[in-house]
Amino acid sequence: MTSEHLTHWIAGRPWTGASERRGDVYDPATGKVTRQVDFADTAVVDQAVSAALEAFQDWRHASVAKRTAVLFAFRELLNARREELAAIIVSEHGKVHSDALGEIARGLEVVEYACGIPHLTKGGFTEQASTGIDVYSIRQPLGPVAIISPFNFPAMVPMWFFPIAIAAGNTVVVKPSEKDPSAADFLARLWKEAGLPDGVFNVVHGDKPAVDRLLEHPDVKAVSFVGSTPIARYVYETGTRYGKRVQALGGAKNHMLVLPDADLDLAADAAVNAGFGAAGERCMAVSVLVAVDPVGDDLVERIKQRIAGLTVGPGCAAGSEMGPLVTGAHRDKVTAYLDAGVTDGATLAVDGRAHPLTGATADGFWLGPTLFDNVKPGMSVYDDEIFGPVLSVVRVSSYDEGLALINANPYGNGTALFTNDGGAARRFQHEVEVGMVGINVPIPVPVAYYSFGGWKSSLFGDTHAYGEDGVKFFTRGKAVTQRWLDPSHGGINLGFPTNS
Ligand code: NAD
Repeated sequence: MTSEHLTHWIAGRPWTGASERRGDVYDPATGKVTRQVDFADTAVVDQAVSAALEAFQDWRHASVAKRTAVLFAFRELLNARREELAAIIVSEHGKVHSDALGEIARGLEVVEYACGIPHLTKGGFTEQASTGIDVYSIRQPLGPVAIISPFNFPAMVPMWFFPIAIAAGNTVVVKPSEKDPSAADFLARLWKEAGLPDGVFNVVHGDKPAVDRLLEHPDVKAVSFVGSTPIARYVYETGTRYGKRVQALGGAKNHMLVLPDADLDLAADAAVNAGFGAAGERCMAVSVLVAVDPVGDDLVERIKQRIAGLTVGPGCAAGSEMGPLVTGAHRDKVTAYLDAGVTDGATLAVDGRAHPLTGATADGFWLGPTLFDNVKPGMSVYDDEIFGPVLSVVRVSSYDEGLALINANPYGNGTALFTNDGGAARRFQHEVEVGMVGINVPIPVPVAYYSFGGWKSSLFGDTHAYGEDGVKFFTRGKAVTQRWLDPSHGGINLGFPTNS
């Protein structure tokens, strides 16, 4: 089978040059290479940034009404063609079809939020701040901004950022993951159809050289990054060294704390859904279940029963509940944790290597849902972000011990508490050192009008993604002090202006 070729999208059209480096894109369900994607070098990134800079000269002056009209058109197109995009995501990421539709829906939410940009960027006005003087504030776009995204949400994560960036008058260069690059290309074509001027939305594909050039390019004014913690830290440190505004969202190890009074069936359902949905390749996946005595044995038993009933197979097959992992290398890395956990003394309660596959091709990147019990800090299955279908159960004797465990973890992306005790829930939301908290909600991804972001090693920078933080990140404020002169204002006074 010959594979398709995918290239960059610059100034409203596919790039026409010849690339020196390319990467393979796989269908994770078959293990076959389906596409080859061009990798950008410095010159290609420079072309994309200069297209974005040129487009910025007009787009920043486009009326808010005109920008909003394009946003609405994009929203309609994306909504109408979501099935096409879902199929692309399934074919390169491997997640199941319903999950792909889910990520598009969550991205659409941000597009809809950005349609409200006239209201979101409205400034304040104080009449008569001093005698005859009015003061008001305005928010303005930054210029070309870069969005660098991970493989696990090829549509949603870029959509956390670009709708607001574009609505606010910026121009964009997206560098999607090289593992599943086609969703970004699809979105670029939709923008063109929606009437976005050429050069406002550009896509460069590639790896480290492309990212490095975006980080150092003097015309890139801000960088939104999502990916693993080591790269997030690197992007934050490098981008800020080059004088840019940077928000860099990193990895996670999300704990779900189950108190003895919780409904154990609901808790078991939530642990399985949040642990194994998208094969655990979600930054908000639950990877550690913290069971407060005496519910551990009961919970583990209920989770085992549920795992046994899960259908693992190709994402495009109607009955599949969990698909393959994104690449063979990633599957092998995740599988190695199964042996490491046993060596470290954890109990392998369910071995995902033995899980039956339904309608699957042997060469796909498969690993079934895996459950470890009696896990402790210091074991690699606890300490590392595995990013696969591996759920660890840690036993604790009290709420306080569970809370201390969560707060000692270097990550602080998401967490969840399962209980029927309102007082305990209130204490937890107050005391836990994590950016996104679920009370009987296992994957507490905030809706578009709140902001998404973790604490500690899960986010570098001081603004979260989308919501009010997103508007703040993609605009800068200006305060104007205004007086309309008349002859009574004449005279010399070299003193510092004060209110009068
Ligand atoms: P990754 O860090 O490997 O890659 C992310 C991006 O960085 C990609 O575009 C990639 O091309 C680029 N990149 C990779 N290595 C680089 C390097 N050495 N220098 C410069 N750029 C580099 O992450 P991934 O494997 O694609 O995604 C999974 C990770 O993303 C997990 O750690 C997950 O927790 C995290 N994630 C976090 C959030 C969040 O909101 N906090 C959301 C989704 C994913």
